[in-house]
Amino acid sequence: MKKIEHLGIAVENLEESNLLFEKLLGKAHYKIEEVASEHVMTSFFKVGPNKIELVASTNPDGPIAKFLEKKGEGIHHIAFEVKDIYKEMERLRNEGFRILNDKPKRGADNKLVCFVHPKSANGVLIELCQEIKEEKR
Ligand code: ZN
Repeated sequence: MKKIEHLGIAVENLEESNLLFEKLLGKAHYKIEEVASEHVMTSFFKVGPNKIELVASTNPDGPIAKFLEKKGEGIHHIAFEVKDIYKEMERLRNEGFRILNDKPKRGADNKLVCFVHPKSANGVLIELCQEIKEEKR
């Protein structure tokens, strides 16, 4: 793992939380992006070299809606940047971690992502992410 790429925070209302975090951090989010496959709307803030991702649900049956129901708003996941997500998934599987995805999928912010089940990581949902290098044309 290379570094913490971002912290994911589950929020009820993305617009309200965007304003709140804008006040908190002293600057506005730099992007809003829907990840339809995950039923979420995300917004990203930069804080020095670090990033915060706010995640709101777009579907009452989606994973974030369920998280909010169970635990309320708060830190939802820690995302680590990896060099080779396939290798890292393989390594973690061999170490006994439960990976939630068979293969990486496209996440927000131009990343391939996969998740490690919180039950196998002391209650913390872990996201692995790898930057997608776009083909130059
Ligand atoms: Zn994330």
